[in-house]
Amino acid sequence: MFDNLKKAFSNVSTGFSEKDLNEKDIEDVLFELEINLLESDVATEVIDSIKDSLKEKIIGSRVEKKNIQNFVKQSLIEYISETFDNAGHVDLIDRINQKKDSNEPFIVVFVGINGTGKTTSLAKVANLLKNEKFSLAIAAADTYRAGAIEQLREHTNRLNLKIIAQNYGSDPAAVAKDAVLYAKSHKVDCVLVDTAGRMQTSSNLMEQIEKITKVVKPDMKIFVGDSLAGNDTVNQAREFHNHVKFDCSILTKSDADARGGAALSIVKVTSSPIIYVGVGQEYDDIVKFDKPEPESEPEPQQPEPEPEPEPEPQQPQQPEPESGDSDDPFDGIETDDINDYADMYDVPPPETDDEAKKLATKIKKWIQDGRPKP
Ligand code: GDP
Repeated sequence: MFDNLKKAFSNVSTGFSEKDLNEKDIEDVLFELEINLLESDVATEVIDSIKDSLKEKIIGSRVEKKNIQNFVKQSLIEYISETFDNAGHVDLIDRINQKKDSNEPFIVVFVGINGTGKTTSLAKVANLLKNEKFSLAIAAADTYRAGAIEQLREHTNRLNLKIIAQNYGSDPAAVAKDAVLYAKSHKVDCVLVDTAGRMQTSSNLMEQIEKITKVVKPDMKIFVGDSLAGNDTVNQAREFHNHVKFDCSILTKSDADARGGAALSIVKVTSSPIIYVGVGQEYDDIVKFDKPEPESEPEPQQPEPEPEPEPEPQQPQQPEPESGDSDDPFDGIETDDINDYADMYDVPPPETDDEAKKLATKIKKWIQDGRPKP
């Protein structure tokens, strides 16, 4: 009969139990997480997204205080894993192989801001593809930055690769187109296009790269981001992604950065995968990107179900001899008892409130003791 009522009670009582988290606990644990993520160089907007998602999960799961650290850790692992999984997978070598039968070159355009390691990464990828026995042509389509063409030529000389270049100031889309025509006529498997990493304005740069991609219709666009540049890298990734919709990224200088926040941030912001990671300045210093795996088996994530608490045993109520609300100290005492006591002990009627209270207390004690005769 009282089952529902009992349940309602037990729900309420566990809902407000000391063991459960309150808003402040959640804020505290999220603050701690935020500091850890900032220290890992995760971009602020990604941290906000992580915090929002965790807060929702914590509130939805009624986590106990003692489980919160584990819950947050586990949720974070899931968040990171899902972020990388949702970004998908791109395999450059597979893709080039797939296109090989068509007798058309596979065209890759590299984009990114100056100094991030774009040219070096292009050379590393060229070396990697050369080792896979693909034939290559390199397009020097950064015709803006002084020294860019020479820098690329130095790499192609060292790697013994064909470079297609024009003068500084020439149309980079035309350079890229030349390289594609060369590749078609020479049955080259793959064209790698270097692009400018800075121009007078960012919109000039984006327009130029958009023009190149319109003209050569690349099979893949790769963003090169510097893992040391933190929020800047994420902002660059977003801007390039908005304009150029790149397919994947290469994250450079990971040898100097053990924090890993940039990888998570870029993937989250662009929903596209990282394919390679630069780990040094030599041509071989490039490795396939693997999503981070948790170090040990995760603890069970969901908190143990709480056993329904036993209802508190009800204390039998002692009849209150005196009503707290009443002004009359003799309230609750039979008139006969008052008269008997007064006769027996020859007590005169009290003249003050204080005397009345003292007398009432004595009579109550006398009643409690069983009305003993003097
Ligand atoms: P770009 O202006 O983007 O073309 O950048 P560069 O390719 O010229 O590279 C800028 C600097 O970063 C050079 O000194 C490179 O040697 C260095 N660099 C590029 N990739 C890496 C990397 O993965 N690790 C390290 N430690 N340095 C790198």
